[in-house]
Amino acid sequence: DVVLRLKQVSKTYKKGLAGEVDVLRGVDLTLSQGETVALVAPSGAGKSTLLHVAGLLDAPDAGQVEIDGQILTGKSDRKRTVARRRDVGFVYQFHHLLPEFSALENIVLPQLANGVSQNQATSRAQDLLARVGVDHRADHRPAALSGGEQQRVAFCRALANAPKLLLADEPTGNLDPATSDQVFTALMDLVKGTGLSAVIATHNMELAAKMDRVLRLQDGVLVAV
Ligand code: ADP
Ligand code: ADP
Repeated sequence: DVVLRLKQVSKTYKKGLAGEVDVLRGVDLTLSQGETVALVAPSGAGKSTLLHVAGLLDAPDAGQVEIDGQILTGKSDRKRTVARRRDVGFVYQFHHLLPEFSALENIVLPQLANGVSQNQATSRAQDLLARVGVDHRADHRPAALSGGEQQRVAFCRALANAPKLLLADEPTGNLDPATSDQVFTALMDLVKGTGLSAVIATHNMELAAKMDRVLRLQDGVLVAV
């Protein structure tokens, strides 16, 4: 089963009077269910742009984005939002958790918004927290957690509604090297344990090598490493 298919995806930004920059120049990518891909490239190469286009946050100028067999390019905003909320989970360098809510509540709330019952949502949140080893911190607010714990909770939140695809942009980029390794391993275990497909942008080649494939974004296209 193909979870994500990008066909000749292009994206150009207008740079005021300076002209244009072609960030993506015909990106092709096919990601199967359960497959993990590392995306490596220097800053400014277009990794965030690629993840946003793949995750339906941004529309390509040309080409096609298909998620779980559904071509979503050219569809209405509403259709793309529905598909994004159902099928895609995002993780960033910063956790973006809601500061007024506990770790558990941060994972429960997206499920309630999706029509899941309080009991079911709580039970799933507890299960996810246990998988990443933060269940003993469930009742703490994000500010009371370490950087590594905050990211682990953010992974759980991204998976709260059981998406098919995880898109992560430097998910351990803010952590010190030792914490980064542990948190990355926790993320990989979570991904493998749930059969999710993932594209994870990272600068760390050692961590990238733990994934099924490593792709480099170079001159606007993906090249196997
Ligand atoms: P990366 O994530 O690899 O650092 P980005 O996708 O953030 O790269 O950016 C790629 C290029 O596109 C950079 O030159 C950046 O300045 C430019 N860019 C990104 N977003 C915009 C935007 N909204 N408007 C104009 N230029 C942008
Ligand atoms: P909306 O803001 O359209 O209601 P959701 O709350 O459904 O979007 O967000 C779904 C996912 O998309 C979240 O994980 C969130 O991190 C991500 N997301 C939403 N809008 C943006 C954005 N403008 N930039 C980056 N990520 C976003």
